[in-house]
Amino acid sequence: MWTLLDLILPLDCAGCGAAGSGWCPACAVTLAGGPVRVPARSGPAAPCWALGGYSGPRRQAVLAAKERGRRDLAEPLGRALAAGLAALREAGELDPPELAPLVLVPAPTRRRAARQRGGDPVARMAAVAARHTRRAAPAVALRAGWTTRDSVGLSAAQREANLAGRVIRRPVPIPPAANVVLVDDVLTTGATAAESIRVLRRSGTPVTAVLAICAASRPTNA
Ligand SMILES: [Zn+2]
Repeated sequence: MWTLLDLILPLDCAGCGAAGSGWCPACAVTLAGGPVRVPARSGPAAPCWALGGYSGPRRQAVLAAKERGRRDLAEPLGRALAAGLAALREAGELDPPELAPLVLVPAPTRRRAARQRGGDPVARMAAVAARHTRRAAPAVALRAGWTTRDSVGLSAAQREANLAGRVIRRPVPIPPAANVVLVDDVLTTGATAAESIRVLRRSGTPVTAVLAICAASRPTNA
């Protein structure tokens, strides 16, 4: 939640704590290495990519956006995702914009928890990424079921297991010709991604790729 103080006092860098810069240039570099291919243990049926490992400024930024309500981070994180999407298009992993529009689907989050923390940071960064990507649009097409336990106090892997099997398709239309990319902040076991891909495919929407800010499993160059 923004307060008057946020407008007066510049926020410290969410990555390294440097004063007066919400996201400093040195930390921005840690998101700019280009996406790396991630081996996902739960076997999502689409190639998974991340901007880097779940460490250092990347990890700090994700935690600040998710746990500390740092809404200002949606802009740099979304722009970094957009650069990653451009690189994937360049590498032929996604169709060029002339061939197919891109639809960015934020990985589902438990709704009440998201509301308490000031909105869903993944949906917000996906919207920013779409704004900075040619012929792209966000689609909040998935949500977590109500029976999902609150994930506070659970490990990242437990959170994913908690969500898997409880992903629901929202009635948001996705054009059939689109390249669909599932967007997430952290890819841990891939269980949420795998379930999200299954649910989308069942509704007639194949997923082309998964792109996350961080991969908790060790990324490998592909
Ligand atoms: Zn920094």
